[in-house]
Amino acid sequence: MEILILFGAPFSGKGTQGEILSKRIGFKHLSTGDVLRSERKNHTELGLKAEEYIRQGQLVPDELLEEMIENELIKCKSEKGLILDGYPRTIPQADTLCRLTEKHGIRIKRVLLLDVPHETLIERGVHRGKNSDRIDDKDPNVMNRRIEVYHQETKPVGDYFIVRNLTVRINGIGEIEEVANRILNSI
Ligand code: AMP
Repeated sequence: MEILILFGAPFSGKGTQGEILSKRIGFKHLSTGDVLRSERKNHTELGLKAEEYIRQGQLVPDELLEEMIENELIKCKSEKGLILDGYPRTIPQADTLCRLTEKHGIRIKRVLLLDVPHETLIERGVHRGKNSDRIDDKDPNVMNRRIEVYHQETKPVGDYFIVRNLTVRINGIGEIEEVANRILNSI
């Protein structure tokens, strides 16, 4: 089993592209945001603990996610591959993922960095806020905080994988189909 990491700021298109890529190459799409939203819906301990962080646009603490990620990796072992969307988002999470992939004999194939300029992220965020029922898509301040948190805590993860020669930068501007084709050509 191998992993493609879809990496980028909030509103960069990770979810949309993850779904398209999953259909095209037959890898399972795993969004940690989706997993947390589903845990919340089912009132699990993890879901309840995560809710307040999500509502405020903050990251859920690393240690709360480790068990969930390991379980998901184990579940996916018989899959052809996994598209990981929204994890890792901090350097300690990147360390955890590298440790877990080594432990379970899984290869990180590539990190696809969706590159979208700040103004476009804001435009897409405003657009999504109008149609979304997510608790963290309602308040423009929370949406801005999510972008700030990306710059402070998540962006360094891109460099972490650049050093390991795994990162490919993808121009994330344009029609959904155009971006999807760029991703496909890069893997
Ligand atoms: P997303 O659907 O990827 O935008 O994630 C929504 C929210 O879930 C984020 O703003 C975080 O609060 C939380 N979340 C998702 N993935 C992670 C992660 N890897 N680490 C910490 N928090 C996360």
